[in-house]
Amino acid sequence: MLTIGCHLSSSKGYLAMGKEAVSIGANTFQFFTRNPRGSKAKAIDEADVAAFLSYSKEHGIERILAHAPYTLNPCSKDAHTREFAWMTMADDLKRMEYTPGNCYNFHPGSHTGQGAEEGIRLISEMLNEILKPEQTTTVLLETMAGKGTEVGRSFEELAAILEEFSNQMEQAAELKDHMGVCLDTCHVYDAGYDIVDHLDDVLEGFDRVVGLSKLKAVHLNDSKNPFESHKDRHEKIGEGSLGLAAFERIVTHPALAGLPFYLETPNELDGYAKEIALLRGFVK
Ligand code: FE
Ligand code: FE
Ligand code: ZN
Repeated sequence: MLTIGCHLSSSKGYLAMGKEAVSIGANTFQFFTRNPRGSKAKAIDEADVAAFLSYSKEHGIERILAHAPYTLNPCSKDAHTREFAWMTMADDLKRMEYTPGNCYNFHPGSHTGQGAEEGIRLISEMLNEILKPEQTTTVLLETMAGKGTEVGRSFEELAAILEEFSNQMEQAAELKDHMGVCLDTCHVYDAGYDIVDHLDDVLEGFDRVVGLSKLKAVHLNDSKNPFESHKDRHEKIGEGSLGLAAFERIVTHPALAGLPFYLETPNELDGYAKEIALLRGFVK
C-alpha cells in the first residue's frame, strides 16, 4: 500500500493531525515544527504525543515528516541568521525525539552571494555540529528549484553537502545514516530535471550522484511554471506543467517503491482527500 499523506497544520497538536490524516485517507503526513516563517515553537505536550503515538499505531500512520521553517538559512552571509538556523535546528531535533524514528526535512539554504561552495561548507558545518549519534531522527535535504541563490538546485550540490558532512566527522560514522534527501517533484522539474519525459534517466542520475539509498521521502507537487523555470510555485496534481500521467509513473516507479509521498499542493482537506484517492488508484 502506498504511504501517502499531505501537509497538515500543526496548530492543534499531534493527535489532531493524526485524526485529520485518517479522515482524508492518508497514512502519513507532514507538518511544520513551528511557524513556517520562524519564531518560537510551542512546548511539546507529552500527553498529546503519547495519545498520538498510540493512535498512529492503531490506525497505521507511519513515517511522519517534520518540515523546518523556511527562514532557516545556515549559509546566509549574515551571522545572526546562521546562528538562528543552528539554534532552531538543534531545538527541532530535540523535539523530534518525542516521536522517534521519523524524518526532519529542511531547505539547505541560500548562499546570499557567497557562492555555492561556501554555502555547502556552511551547511555541512551546521549539520556536523548539530546532529548527534544517539538521535533516531533522519535529517533530509530538500531538492530545490534553484531560485535566487538557493543551494541544493542540483543533485551534485546535495551530494557535496552529504560528502562534506561525512568528511568533517571524526568519531561518529553512524551519523552518516542520519542524513538523507527529500525529492520535491515541482522543485526538480523547475530546476531542470525532466521527470515528465525522462523519469528513468533522472532517477538513474540521482542514484549515480547521490545514491538512491539516500532518498527517504518524496514531495508530490505539480508546478505552475514550465520546465527549468527555477520558480517553485506548487500546483494541484494534474493541473500544472507536470500533468497527471507523470504522477502515475512516479508513484508506481520501482525505484521509488516503499517511499513515503507527501502532497504540498494548494488544497484544503477535501482537495487532499481527492488527490490521495486518485494517486492510490494508480497503485495496485
Ligand atoms: Fe519544502
Ligand atoms: Fe517541498
Ligand atoms: Zn516548493
